[in-house]
Amino acid sequence: MKISVNRHLFIWFFSLYFAYFLNIPFWHQILDIIKLSSVADLAYLLSASIILPSIFAILFYLFVFPYFGKFIIFLMTFIAVFSTYHMHYFKVEINADMIRNVLHTDFHEAFDLLNVSFFLWFSTLVLLPFLSLYFCKIHYHAHFLKEIKSRLISILLCIALIGCAFGISYKNIIVIHRNHRNLTGLVTPLNCFYSLGKYIRKQHLIKKTITPIAEDASRGALWKTVSKKTLLIIVVGEAARSDHFSLNGYLRETNPLLKTKNVISLKEVFSCDTSTAAALPGIFSKLSQRDYSPEKAAEEENLLDVLQRVGFLVYWKDNNSSSKGVASRVREENVRDLNQNDDILLKGLDEYVKSLKEDTVLILHQLGSHGPSYYKRYPSEFNIFTPTCNSSEIQSCQKDHLINTYDNTILYTDYILTKIIEVLEKNPQLNTVMMYISDHGQSLGEYGLYLHGTPYVVAPKEQIHIPWIIWLSDNFAKEFHVNKEHLLKSITTRKCAHENFFHSVLGLLNIDTEEYKKDMDIFGK
Ligand SMILES: [Zn+2]
Repeated sequence: MKISVNRHLFIWFFSLYFAYFLNIPFWHQILDIIKLSSVADLAYLLSASIILPSIFAILFYLFVFPYFGKFIIFLMTFIAVFSTYHMHYFKVEINADMIRNVLHTDFHEAFDLLNVSFFLWFSTLVLLPFLSLYFCKIHYHAHFLKEIKSRLISILLCIALIGCAFGISYKNIIVIHRNHRNLTGLVTPLNCFYSLGKYIRKQHLIKKTITPIAEDASRGALWKTVSKKTLLIIVVGEAARSDHFSLNGYLRETNPLLKTKNVISLKEVFSCDTSTAAALPGIFSKLSQRDYSPEKAAEEENLLDVLQRVGFLVYWKDNNSSSKGVASRVREENVRDLNQNDDILLKGLDEYVKSLKEDTVLILHQLGSHGPSYYKRYPSEFNIFTPTCNSSEIQSCQKDHLINTYDNTILYTDYILTKIIEVLEKNPQLNTVMMYISDHGQSLGEYGLYLHGTPYVVAPKEQIHIPWIIWLSDNFAKEFHVNKEHLLKSITTRKCAHENFFHSVLGLLNIDTEEYKKDMDIFGK
């Protein structure tokens, strides 16, 4: 049974629903700002309550037409409900970087986000609109030109309404929106469309051809006397924060194994961005922090291309979503484990290293401490810090339970890295190095923030302070003239960042090129 509804009624019903029910974070923020303590505040609230639905009404008058009108509303509702959930619970900001993350999210990651509170949020907010869409038959004017005329008049009336509402409280509107520029960015789903547009524009600007870098690269003088094959294993961590590593001063013992391995742990390292898709390319890019953007990095070759050019076999093994394009010109394999922990990266490693015939750089991309389902990231024997938060609804867990769970993921990474070092120790016929660095940090409820992805300029330290751990075999240290004791004293407290990685690896492996900057090389030989 369908109920015939006039299009004006239909459009205004959805305009009010979008404005008042699908924009909870926007109203939440407004009520935080104005506190309702004066007549001016009440006037501002009244203005906003008129302006927001009127804006939606103008949009619907422009786009809701026969045949596809219902589909547009359906799509907008779906996007709005999905984005407000993340904005409300995780304080996620919708911007071009977030759109990049969403577009790079794979099935496993998306599945992780489904939980009871998401289901409740989703079903409550979509019930009324979806029932309305199903049971209503929108009645349009039979004559197309008359329909257009009626809509133009309606749009003009909406504009007049916005003008009047602005007049009620224009001084307050100007002041509030100047001081809280993020406020309009909270209006969903418009923020999603705006950010998608920005993302597409940025992608469009990326040059299709990749600019070569370090074409002059060659192996340096030390290689003349190197007698063994060399293997560098780079482990790229996921969402690991430096201050939860006991190697870096965390009071809880989260590195019981690594601390026995004579590793060098850098304590003051910062990521170039706060999300995987934006930060991962920065680890391998030659760009400095000042010049860096993921788009710029995608336009030119990176460290892996340079190492391949000077004769290294470069192999990227991924237990995360992907290399985000970093490994697109070298061998790349995704081994994503359905159990969603990093054991898979150790599988076959022993034999691989034992049978190595070429100088090799192996990159292992961890799932590490990927949230929000931290409890899924480690096997049960690493459930050491308890009680844990066994849910992806981390915002509902007690803070200490959440931290226990997160710390278990660090404990498991401690095990994975130690196992890799042990494989290297068993192969003294090679010069070996293990280097571990995280893509970004992670918020665990500090300032009401969870996960990561806060815009870099305002990102809290938890999201950008990352671990960088180095293990060097005695063979390597001898053949490449590295003084481990000196490094332990000189670099562990040096402030550095992703931008140092490119130069440090080139320096450590004695690769000569004009792109190499000695002052950016943490080993600085
Ligand atoms: Zn990440």
